[in-house]
Amino acid sequence: MKIRDHIANAIKENKTEFSFEILPPLKGQNINTIFDNIDLLMEFKPPFIDVTYHREEYVYHELPNGLLEKKVVRKRPGTVGICAALQNKYNVDAVPHVLCGGFTKEDTENFLIDLDFLGIENVLALRGDAVKSETYYKPNKGGNTYAQDLVEQIVDLNKGQYLDPDLQNSSATDFCIGVAGYPEKHLEAPSIESDIHFLKKKLEAGSCYVVTQLFFDNQKYFDFVAKCRAAGITKPIIPGLKPLATMKQLNMIPQRFSVDMPDALVKEVIKCKTPQDVRQVGVEWCIEQSKELKASGVPILHYYSMGKSDNIRQIAEAIF
Ligand code: FAD
Repeated sequence: MKIRDHIANAIKENKTEFSFEILPPLKGQNINTIFDNIDLLMEFKPPFIDVTYHREEYVYHELPNGLLEKKVVRKRPGTVGICAALQNKYNVDAVPHVLCGGFTKEDTENFLIDLDFLGIENVLALRGDAVKSETYYKPNKGGNTYAQDLVEQIVDLNKGQYLDPDLQNSSATDFCIGVAGYPEKHLEAPSIESDIHFLKKKLEAGSCYVVTQLFFDNQKYFDFVAKCRAAGITKPIIPGLKPLATMKQLNMIPQRFSVDMPDALVKEVIKCKTPQDVRQVGVEWCIEQSKELKASGVPILHYYSMGKSDNIRQIAEAIF
């Protein structure tokens, strides 16, 4: 089923549904590590599960002569396989993330063909970040530059238009496309207005819904939605939430995701004596966020599990 229909059903029934995002395991780990985490969450009946995509990284090995050898590695492959496994094992809709970065348009087309053949009918279309060792994002030669370009390619495929113009009577795909939105603005955007301007373009290109970057202050989400509506964006904007889980994340999350940590949360975390206390503060904060968002009538609450689901389960028990 399409995510747009899951959202429409939740709105019609005046419900808030639970969904979450998982990461493929690190290369060398077993898929059961993923299943064990998902098993803990399935009783909350997620209509869909997102699976992130992790592009290549460069690692450098020192050679005996002192020179460095550059190697390209993918530490978390398996997005497509996990999506297919989830749909088979749990009968739930899987939403693979599809990136511009690291892909030529030809690679993208072949990736989408695999998804289509596997019966996967939803994707989240993203630009991706810079490769870890580089400062700025660079599109691949022959690849899509922005998420909007990727949405356009998927929409073309949904019309049966492949890259090869000579293909005759081609079969059309039927993907429902989601995109990312940033309540506190994307880190590269010069202003929130410009970011919303380009978000609107992604939606006008044919995507159906938005999932937000994580945030810890609901007011940022409410303000963002109000600005999007004022700019003429009418499509659903699903809030993305992540419970703070470690002391280290107090510094890492604002830097990595360009989001603010509310003072009240920081004060509570600093008071903690053990890692378990920090995790519990994160859970309680996220429960309060979830309650307020649910009361505001959002159709879906989407949680970033980062591969660990015990804290997400605690939140789901309190909310769903
Ligand atoms: P875009 O929409 O292309 O925007 C990127 C920047 O360019 C923004 O500043 C925007 O304002 C600007 N912009 C957009 N269009 C134009 C234009 N035409 N001209 C000029 N400027 C423009 N990353 C991963 O690697 N794997 C994942 O699985 C993943 N999942 C994510 C899931 C969610 C819900 C979110 C919020 C993010 C996720 N990311 C993931 C991170 C994402 O790839 C980065 O945030 C990336 O830097 C931006 O992606 P985007 O799709 O929002 O980009």
